[in-house]
Amino acid sequence: MSCGRDGDLGGPTEKCGVVGASLAGRDAARPLYYSLYALQHRGQESAGIVTHDGFQQHDHVSMGLVGDAFTEADIDGLKGSAGIGHVRYPTAGSVDKSCAQPFTVSFKSGSLALSHNGNLVNSDEIRDELAGKGHAFTSDGDTEVIAHDLARNLLEEDLVRAVKRTMNRIHGSYSLAIMHDETVLGVRDPEGNRPLVIGEVEDGYVIASESSAIDTIDGELVRDVRPGELVVLRPDGEGYDTYQLVERDRPAHCFFEHVYFARPDSVIDDNLVYEVRRELGRKLWEESGIESDVVMPVPDSGRAFASGYAEAAQEDGSNVEFAEGLMKNRYVGRTFIMPTQDERERAVRLKLNPIKSTVEGRTVTIIDDSIVRGTTSTQLVRLLKDCGAEEVHMRIGAPPIIAPCYMGINMATREELIASDKSVEEIREAISADSLAYLSKEAIADALSVSQSDLCLGCVTGEYPYDIDDEETDRDVTRPVIDGASD
Ligand code: AMP
Repeated sequence: MSCGRDGDLGGPTEKCGVVGASLAGRDAARPLYYSLYALQHRGQESAGIVTHDGFQQHDHVSMGLVGDAFTEADIDGLKGSAGIGHVRYPTAGSVDKSCAQPFTVSFKSGSLALSHNGNLVNSDEIRDELAGKGHAFTSDGDTEVIAHDLARNLLEEDLVRAVKRTMNRIHGSYSLAIMHDETVLGVRDPEGNRPLVIGEVEDGYVIASESSAIDTIDGELVRDVRPGELVVLRPDGEGYDTYQLVERDRPAHCFFEHVYFARPDSVIDDNLVYEVRRELGRKLWEESGIESDVVMPVPDSGRAFASGYAEAAQEDGSNVEFAEGLMKNRYVGRTFIMPTQDERERAVRLKLNPIKSTVEGRTVTIIDDSIVRGTTSTQLVRLLKDCGAEEVHMRIGAPPIIAPCYMGINMATREELIASDKSVEEIREAISADSLAYLSKEAIADALSVSQSDLCLGCVTGEYPYDIDDEETDRDVTRPVIDGASD
């Protein structure tokens, strides 16, 4: 979802985690709470749960981490065996409770609650149209637009048709957990941009952004929700029904989920993220391996890449040592969201400290998943050289990020992205590394066993799988026409 900013495309967008559950004879709040814990990496700004007890909704939405957002009493107060939850990603400078989710709305034919991961690119058009028809909006977020559109359609259609009608009007990325009265739904956009899975627990069914949330509550992953599919969890955990509401030829799965965002222990679109990252590390060695005394991950994001890289190097006869030479202070949050460059630089130093004996007098290769602004890599190269490294080589498990993400990941603006106007050699010079290499797009598609055209590679190609104002698209897409007439 995006919220509180100038239009959909101007400001940063957010990456979030969504969950939903329908259980037999026990309150859903506690398993939802645990599964939000498992998705904490997808959002640290706010957390919320909405449940339904058959008569009415109960909600608790609060700013902060999951562990801080709920007290025991809050969870006890969330009655009902059906519910949905949400964690929201932080954005620079924004601490706005009106953006926290799940978003709730009551209307003539019942109550609705919505959790959204992704970003719509045509929400302004729909908001204008609905506002013209008398809908009052409390935020400029796209989740509220989906909620109002669905509420309106539910006045005229049954649940499945109403969702279909809304899906035919919204354009962009969305994985949704929705609750209409006590029925929980999961919806994935027709391109399958953001992940969403179905899981089974002892006494019911769940949907979640990542399978690790299902593991946490002792459930089994059933499968991914298919692009364009609606999953309806039957009340009281009795099963689920699915409807393929929109067909598309080509999916556009976000490759960056596999590279950076998702937990390594999650399975997305049948791939264990950890194995994908190790394979990407192996390919990095094949494409641009360089001899050095030691190879080290940038923790935590570079870990699986570096172990795959080192393993492939050693299989090729290299004597390179694999070492954890950078120690991470686990109490420092993600540096990326620090509002100023100065704070970001300080935060890298707070977060990572080299083990001097591992690097002193040696040639070092460090491996990270991505370079965004270049702050981390510049600081790290300097740190390692200050610690006596003879040479510092940098290898990156993704192609250069040259363009912003409009589909739900909080990246930097185009101007802030170091690769948006610099060649690899210019970046190497800027970060003062002795050598620098990125992974190819081909290697990413290969590691995921898909064709490049089935991935969203917008941030590394500048061509997006949606119709985004002022940007190129990599396919034949038709943006829905919102003409003020109800369709
Ligand atoms: P930078 O210092 O701006 O070049 O950021 C690079 C670091 O940020 C890498 O260590 C990545 O693991 C991490 N990173 C990449 N994408 C994101 C993101 N969307 N949000 C937070 N951190 C990120």
